[in-house]
Amino acid sequence: MARYTGAVCRLCRREGQKLFLKGDRCYTDKCAVDRRAFPPGDHGNARNRKASEYGLQLREKQKARRYYGVLESQFRDYFEMANKRKGITGENLLSILETRLDNVVYRLGFAMSRAEARQLVRHAHFTINGKKVNIPSYLVKPGEVISLKESSRSLDKFKASLEANASRPLPKWLEMDRTKMEAKVLALPEREDIDLPIEEHLIVELYSK
Ligand code: SF4
Repeated sequence: MARYTGAVCRLCRREGQKLFLKGDRCYTDKCAVDRRAFPPGDHGNARNRKASEYGLQLREKQKARRYYGVLESQFRDYFEMANKRKGITGENLLSILETRLDNVVYRLGFAMSRAEARQLVRHAHFTINGKKVNIPSYLVKPGEVISLKESSRSLDKFKASLEANASRPLPKWLEMDRTKMEAKVLALPEREDIDLPIEEHLIVELYSK
């Protein structure tokens, strides 16, 4: 699956808020949103137009895509999946995105950003129910156990990340055993479990046009 490979700080500046795409750097005064709080591009500093309804919906969709590092076509597929599920489509959409394996690895604290988590999954550091899974878009399900594979457990990188992220709260739909370096999916995430400032109803309105 393709992925965005451009300058990620531009994406935050475009959305006008921190999307935390670069790990450690996002928490320092080097963050581009703090240093240049206006949209990227030659006229970014000059723009002050009121966004249209469509513009607001589009920005919200782009923001959600960028948080999770998902390209348009895959995001659209997730929307269709969410639409077919029972319940509120926007909340279903966020729940699906949240269960991507790369996001789960990030939530568990094994990585400093979702982009890093994606790379770690690609490099086959994790198993699900004992079987190697190296697909970042794999959607975890309740009851599944995500483990750092045996040979990766002694790597300093993982110990350092877990330590650095120890204060990050673990969502209640995941249960983590830090000594075993494995986690269990207890349930599907609900909207209240997802701490991202996304107005998902705007995304539903956009795709429902
Ligand atoms: Fe976004 Fe992080 Fe870059 Fe700041 S440092 S603009 S939060 S990716």
